[in-house]
Amino acid sequence: MAELEGLEYGKSDFILLDEVTMEHFMENLKLRFEKGRIYTFIGEVVVSVNPYRQLDIYGKEAVEAYRGRELYENPPHLFAMADAAYKAMKMRAKDTCIVISGESGAGKTEASKYIMQYIAAITNPNQRAEVESVKNVLLKSNCVLEAFGNAKTNRNDNSSRFGKYMDINFNFNGDPTGGHINNYLLEKSRVVQQQEGERNFHSFYQLLRGGSQELIKSLFLEKNPALYVYTSEGAASITSNDDHSSHKAVLNALKVIGFTPNEIDSIYKILGTILHLGNLEFTSEGENVQVSAKEAAEHIAVLTSTKAADVSKALLFRTVATGGGEVINKGHSVQEASYGKDAFVKALYERLFSWIVSHINTVIEVKDYNPMLHGKNTVIGVLDIYGFEIFDNNSFEQFCINYCNEKLQQLFIELIMQQEQEEYNREGIPWQQIEYCNNQIIVDLVEEPHKGIISILEEACLGVGKVTDTMFLESMDSKLSQHPHYTSRKLCPTDKSMEYRRDFRIRHYAGDVTYSVEGILDKNKDPLFQDFKRLMYNSTDPVLRDMWPEGRLSITEVTKRPLTAATLFKNSIISLVDNLACKVPYYVRCIKPNEMKSPMLFDDARCQHQVAYLGLLENVRVRRAGFAYRQPYDRFLQRYKMTCEYTWPNHLMESDKEAVEAIVRQHGFSESVEYGHSKLFVRTPRSLFTLEQERNAL
Ligand code: ATP
Ligand code: MG
Repeated sequence: MAELEGLEYGKSDFILLDEVTMEHFMENLKLRFEKGRIYTFIGEVVVSVNPYRQLDIYGKEAVEAYRGRELYENPPHLFAMADAAYKAMKMRAKDTCIVISGESGAGKTEASKYIMQYIAAITNPNQRAEVESVKNVLLKSNCVLEAFGNAKTNRNDNSSRFGKYMDINFNFNGDPTGGHINNYLLEKSRVVQQQEGERNFHSFYQLLRGGSQELIKSLFLEKNPALYVYTSEGAASITSNDDHSSHKAVLNALKVIGFTPNEIDSIYKILGTILHLGNLEFTSEGENVQVSAKEAAEHIAVLTSTKAADVSKALLFRTVATGGGEVINKGHSVQEASYGKDAFVKALYERLFSWIVSHINTVIEVKDYNPMLHGKNTVIGVLDIYGFEIFDNNSFEQFCINYCNEKLQQLFIELIMQQEQEEYNREGIPWQQIEYCNNQIIVDLVEEPHKGIISILEEACLGVGKVTDTMFLESMDSKLSQHPHYTSRKLCPTDKSMEYRRDFRIRHYAGDVTYSVEGILDKNKDPLFQDFKRLMYNSTDPVLRDMWPEGRLSITEVTKRPLTAATLFKNSIISLVDNLACKVPYYVRCIKPNEMKSPMLFDDARCQHQVAYLGLLENVRVRRAGFAYRQPYDRFLQRYKMTCEYTWPNHLMESDKEAVEAIVRQHGFSESVEYGHSKLFVRTPRSLFTLEQERNAL
């Protein structure tokens, strides 16, 4: 509990609020934001409000102030929490994780970078070259992942369009030895289409604006994003990042990480291929569908190390095996061809991104680590993942993202409860029952085998014959209409127009969200013609072949239906949560103060909404329901010994515990405490206010 700032900055820990109401919470949050105090604790959780301006609180001095100190010894800060995570990892040999959540633009990615910078700053005091090199690669990987995975959206100029979990491994000295990155659900549809005012992924503009003349020429491109369909929407929009200089930084980062010149060439060739594919159209002459610009197909062939005729063929025809085992080429309609092209482009970019991540992983993977020789290898994981999304139109993507947030919320509640219980056991204190809202029921609604929404969706996608989006909705309605968190919008007779609505509603812990089913089966099936896979696998570029291993199968060998997107996502989130569940968790809850990116404005309604769906009030209540405050006896004594005649300047009792008992007795709050083996537990924070006041008055 940090009480080192004056009262004019409000309460630095929300557990110290006089009353846990939304009004008091918001008042404190706003006051602190306006005074430039963007961080506030709830126990060990950091609540952060995006300042939208550079604050001088991350420099060397700050690092020194927080290094090795206890959480409550300094004003709230990410560094305090990072240090706590680091200490738990190093001193107690515990794997820890830092979960950062919040909506788009709330400051998650910036927070994750400050945390990594802090860890880099406090490790490897002896400057050992191999450790420095690991740190350098870990930090540089951010630059590459942001170039390929971030984009300007209407909500954030540098929005991460993928979820990221990064493990940093440490040796027994507490120095980083490597790491591993997992990426989740890249928003690949952005490659082919962006909303008004938004951009494609940064990588395209960086290439087109910052690439050398030689590189641009070798890709048959021109240095102008307005010329390409996929970048024209965002061509005029300005971002705070300078594409030109970012290109150089990314190129440098790729080299430092260890991508070879050939691999870097291949990456840019894929970007070039995508831009050319975007400008390619299909026309029909009678039965015949053709590619509009022949030279585009030729450029694509050169860039992908394939043959122009094969490129055209994959774009215009589909190989199908007939019932009799015969293989025929079936021509596409214009519509099918352009649908197929878009799917191909999305897959190209997604595979490029995943390949980059796995390449970084092979470089940073811990090698030659022998636990017998080097001691236990521990990790700190950092999760920077999309927050809860409620838009005017919600679809498949929001469904997946919100499911992920339900899982994380569930884990949050479980772990906090579990941690409390473990601490009580350790300290020999009787278990205190805490009331809390359990959202397992919503998680089950989505993920339960056979009955859950994802299973019903999977079934609809794998069904024989033509299953439509509406049929999927009907199937859900029939199976889930009794569920308290599911509302079928078709069975709501009060409003006539609702009869025709093609959506369903889930009552999430964060609020009600209505999801449209339009196109949902297609998004989930995410089909891609086999012909493209074979085309890429037959490339003579080893990087492309590496990205498309299943292209080696011939048409008659491809029989098994792959799992659909939602099921794959579900599996990856379940394994993420399992992985987090066995670590000591630390949380950063990020809040976006306004929509204008303004450093001055605190939009009350918007902030309150976020506080509500991040469950922060509940978090404070849980923290206060048991024991709001706990501290080791020696620390407590150090802080308050001057408030009691028996302990000042030194006590003569047998133990610190007895001395603390004397203080508690003198101040008359024996009723609201429990004495653990090594710590004092205080039920209500009010007792401490008195102590603090007295201490300040001396
Ligand atoms: P998304 O979900 O879209 O990826 P995000 O939560 O990761 O959003 P960030 O990209 O971290 O959001 O932050 C958005 C912008 O807000 C940053 O580009 C930066 O300009 C500003 N910002 C965030 N945190 C800070 C901070 N601590 N200090 C100064 N500026 C910040
Ligand atoms: Mg981000």
